[in-house]
Amino acid sequence: MADEAGFYRYPLAEEFGGRNGSNLGMAVIREHLARKGLGLHNDLQNEHSIVGNNVGLLLMIAYGTDEQKADWITPLAEGTRGFAFGITEPNHGSDATHMETVAVRDGDEWVINGEKTWNTGIHHAQYDMIMARTSGKAGDGGGITAFLVPTQSPGFEVLEYLWTFNMPTDHAHIRLTDVRVPHSAIFGGEGKGLQVVQHFFNENRIRQAASSLGAAQFCIDESVKYAKERKPFGKPLATNQAIQFPLVELQTQCEMLRALIHKTAWHMDRDGAFSQSDKVSMCNYWANRLCCDAADRAMQVHGGMGYSRHKPFEHIYRHHRRYRITEGAEEIQIRRVAGYMFGFMSQRAPKGVSEG
Ligand SMILES: Cc1cc2nc3c(=O)[nH]c(=O)nc-3n(C[C@H](O)[C@H](O)[C@H](O)COP(=O)(O)OP(=O)(O)OC[C@H]3O[C@@H](n4cnc5c(N)ncnc54)[C@H](O)[C@@H]3O)c2cc1C
Repeated sequence: MADEAGFYRYPLAEEFGGRNGSNLGMAVIREHLARKGLGLHNDLQNEHSIVGNNVGLLLMIAYGTDEQKADWITPLAEGTRGFAFGITEPNHGSDATHMETVAVRDGDEWVINGEKTWNTGIHHAQYDMIMARTSGKAGDGGGITAFLVPTQSPGFEVLEYLWTFNMPTDHAHIRLTDVRVPHSAIFGGEGKGLQVVQHFFNENRIRQAASSLGAAQFCIDESVKYAKERKPFGKPLATNQAIQFPLVELQTQCEMLRALIHKTAWHMDRDGAFSQSDKVSMCNYWANRLCCDAADRAMQVHGGMGYSRHKPFEHIYRHHRRYRITEGAEEIQIRRVAGYMFGFMSQRAPKGVSEG
């Protein structure tokens, strides 16, 4: 329905039925929808809303070969085919460039061996974008290649699904044993897989920050409303400074964060997705933390009802708590900001990325 209404493809170029949506536009929209609370307009489970966040499709448009685009764009846009992201391994998460999964060329094919974990969405994905080292040594940004691997391939095994704080789960631990794919399965160029991941992270992190900001603002808005209605000891909760002050502090952070998100997204649109890596990290880790703080405060202001599933705050907390760990945990985002601040990172774009 959202597609028929013309909203769903907003971020895509016009030639793909979209509206050439910008990073700034997506940030404004995602904050707006998350600020309305949970519902079909803001489905936390798949991070879509009536404006799609179709990461796979955006990457395909940016990095697919002509043949891959012809094969993939329509099914990705219509949701009939998709791929999961296989980067993290049991022994390597934050240090993904140390991955142990390898792919070795054999004629026109590649043979992949290794294990991946936390592979989200693998229960229905027909393909998995497997990152494997094809050259170089552990820790190198270059030499990692992305392969689009059919999940039905011989040697592709789901070992277990990991349960989380925010059940139900769709995150699998998988093993690849001598999985063979054709050379044409390479996505984004041989040895250049990290760029694909970083591109996804950079643009998704600012959208995620905007969603967390919207959800934080929802928690504050609801708390203010409730504090004016609820009357323990015969007077509105809102008359107590112990209720007001923490909400004012959260509101102040929302106002400041909104300004930084808008400025950062605007710069990304003008100067490129990788031009603001440190600011994207700042927005992301702060927004995710702020959302958890706001959801926690909303539970407190709403008392027993706040802790219950009759209110959405515990769900918002469970969901957004995840973002403090995934797609670059907050320490890793802070580490990146420090890298630029203290001069340990000389290039503007993240590791493994060549601009231009
Ligand atoms: C719900 C969920 C969904 C996920 N979906 C996917 C997916 O679809 N595909 C995929 O590939 N992965 C996925 N992941 C994996 C996720 O990206 C990793 O969990 C994340 O990158 C952190 O890696 P790790 O768990 O191995 O933690 P580790 O890297 O072992 O880190 C442990 C802790 O130490 C901190 N730390 C690490 N290094 C440093 C340092 N140098 N300085 C200070 N602190 C440090 C980290 O920030 C973290 O808090 C998912 C994870 C979860 C929980």
